[in-house]
Amino acid sequence: MPVPSVPEPFYWTNEAWGPALRCRALDPIAPHLFTSRALQLSSAEGRMAAAHAIGAAEAVMVTQVHGNGVVVVRRGEARPSAATAADVLVSDDPQVAVAVRAADCVPLLLGDRRTGAVAAVHAGWRGTAAGAAAAALQAMHREFSTDPADIVAAIGPSIGACCYEVGSELVDAFAAAGHARHLIDRWFVTRPPARGSRERSTLRLDVAGANRDQLILAGVPEERVHAAGMCTAEHLDVLTSFRAEKEKAGRLAGVIRARTT
Ligand SMILES: [Zn+2]
Repeated sequence: MPVPSVPEPFYWTNEAWGPALRCRALDPIAPHLFTSRALQLSSAEGRMAAAHAIGAAEAVMVTQVHGNGVVVVRRGEARPSAATAADVLVSDDPQVAVAVRAADCVPLLLGDRRTGAVAAVHAGWRGTAAGAAAAALQAMHREFSTDPADIVAAIGPSIGACCYEVGSELVDAFAAAGHARHLIDRWFVTRPPARGSRERSTLRLDVAGANRDQLILAGVPEERVHAAGMCTAEHLDVLTSFRAEKEKAGRLAGVIRARTT
């Protein structure tokens, strides 16, 4: 299958199901990948295949609710149930892959180069407004003594500002959540209509960029935040998009596990 080109340090690999996206900067810290539309995550086999591809025996996924709630997976302790409501998973357990599913929302994978602890984050606009990425860093600090300065982050494919037209109520929601005006102005892009066009200007949200900024503001060094920068709605041969495909859309997963130390 032909795959779109991706910026350094991302690269495609060929898995049992087809293409997966990995990040070279995160490779030495934590086994991980982003799946493609070729993998059916709705089946237990599909979820298992994603876990196996990064050397884990099982994948832990929970019920995503577009918030900033965290679930902790700890070495030697019972796994959280799939019914647990959370959008952030943090783990130090090399036996299990922690995974988030997304169809346009941002899948974020974090690895601590010092301790090897990891996080998987699901951040759509609601999770981004709620600061899900920062919640992951706080939980890693609390549970595993992670210093944000040691984090390497891979931001997977999500809907781009090119295709994510939103209403002004989202701006209000970000303001109500306490984000600074200059950041909101950066994350919400107004595109004027083409000259002579009858179209109105449109408001768009750069949801991946907002997550990148939130990581950096929370102390992750800018040079260690890597974004795949690929719009899900424009690469439907490999990716999948709720905006573009509605109910038919599948899901992409961001999958990561702590390294064996
Ligand atoms: Zn796009």
